[in-house]
Amino acid sequence: MRRERRMAEPYKIKMVEPIKMTSRPEREAEAWTAGLNTFLIDSEKVYIDLLTDSGTSAMSDNQWAGMMLGDEAYAGSRNWRNLWDAVEEVYGFKYMCPTHQGRGAEHLISQILIKPGDYVPGNMYFTTTREHQERAGGTFVDVVIDEAHDPRKEHPFKGNVDLDKLEALIKKVGPDRIPYVSVAVTVNMAGGQPVSLANLRALRELCDRYPRSDGRPIRIMFDATRLAENAYFIKEREPGYQDTPIRSIVREMMSYGDGCTMSGKKDNLVNIGGFAATNEREVYEKLTQMVVVFEGMPTYGGLAGRDMEAMARGIYEMVDDDYMAFRIGQVRYLGRQLMGAGVPIVRPIGGHAVFLDARAFLDHIPQSEYPAQALAAALYVDSGVRGMERGNVSAGRGKDGKERFPKLELVRLTIPRRVYTNSHMDVVADSVIALYEGREGIGGLKMVYEPPQLRFFTARFKPVKAEGLWGFVEER
Ligand SMILES: *Cc1c(COP(=O)(O)O)cnc(C)c1O
Repeated sequence: MRRERRMAEPYKIKMVEPIKMTSRPEREAEAWTAGLNTFLIDSEKVYIDLLTDSGTSAMSDNQWAGMMLGDEAYAGSRNWRNLWDAVEEVYGFKYMCPTHQGRGAEHLISQILIKPGDYVPGNMYFTTTREHQERAGGTFVDVVIDEAHDPRKEHPFKGNVDLDKLEALIKKVGPDRIPYVSVAVTVNMAGGQPVSLANLRALRELCDRYPRSDGRPIRIMFDATRLAENAYFIKEREPGYQDTPIRSIVREMMSYGDGCTMSGKKDNLVNIGGFAATNEREVYEKLTQMVVVFEGMPTYGGLAGRDMEAMARGIYEMVDDDYMAFRIGQVRYLGRQLMGAGVPIVRPIGGHAVFLDARAFLDHIPQSEYPAQALAAALYVDSGVRGMERGNVSAGRGKDGKERFPKLELVRLTIPRRVYTNSHMDVVADSVIALYEGREGIGGLKMVYEPPQLRFFTARFKPVKAEGLWGFVEER
């Protein structure tokens, strides 16, 4: 059998940021101080930080060079023009308005398009997206295919919209109460799972078949946050696209929509920034009116000129085929090592993260003792790798005050773009595998401090029993 050829980073390192190596006793002390919550650990005490891929990208020399060319004019900045050109060329939308980050764009678009009593169907919710839709008076309706909710189910396009679910909603409430279908590419909450072009094409046809009384079809608005990662999966998996450049696939994807919101902190390879885009003149006019109140002038939207320049350059870099092959390949490189050792992870491996299935990993810990929280803390103590709990703690309590006990009890290992090498991934894999081999030594946790909202950010924990991996707790 021929060995699969490995691919190394398609960039070389010109500047380095040293990271401090910590000893195990130091990490034990830090974990204890942080109440066993990875959100409360100082970044200086972290060796490999896989908390999020948001705003954590490494910029290229070309982007840094662009930072020196900031035109910091209050109005009509040259960098705004460059950003507009990049959005028009790469995404294909006619109008663009910068915002400080993705949720700024979501706020404006939701307020402009949604009226109270409307329904907003989407392929799974995202936290800030749904919040803004609901604040504008809309009701979110999940229309993703059923497979997206099952972590073990293999499906090449697990983010696809279920057209039957959508059509049933249109028939029930009527097209006039659906301002747009909200389509995320990829679907973050399903584990970075893609949507196919065939699905987008069929979705466009379905929306065109139901004109509203204003004469226009139901809109499709993309949450385009990870659109280039989505395009890579299409290139790899959708028949006929193997030789198509990612840049062309991105254009085709966006051509089925009417506009988008974008978090530049993900695929655009910058540390801050975002934008809203549309093909409709009237929507753009409303954007320019609202952006002044909430973000800044329409030609900077809360960003410095240099930030817009870096984002404009990042947009061209994100559609580089070699970069994206390595990016997705690196996530898969980590995921495959774990699968090879029998570690339970969410399948298939998505675009930006590997998710450990903590419920299967620590099947001796009941969900009421927060297995994902325990696993994230154990990983930090073992190797200084920081992941994020996405389970019972994140899900919080329902209106009845009871814990929600969600189906998915996961630890997310999110890979920042261009920041870590494959050697770092080896360290992560070694640590996770070592923990899996000694999993009986990891015990459950109890919550000792619980804030009323978004508890996962600041909650504090103690081991139920100070034994096994938590033996260090008694000493302090
Ligand atoms: C991060 C994210 C957002 C929000 O963007 P911010 O830049 O963090 O405000 C919206 N949708 C998805 C899918 C995201 O991952």
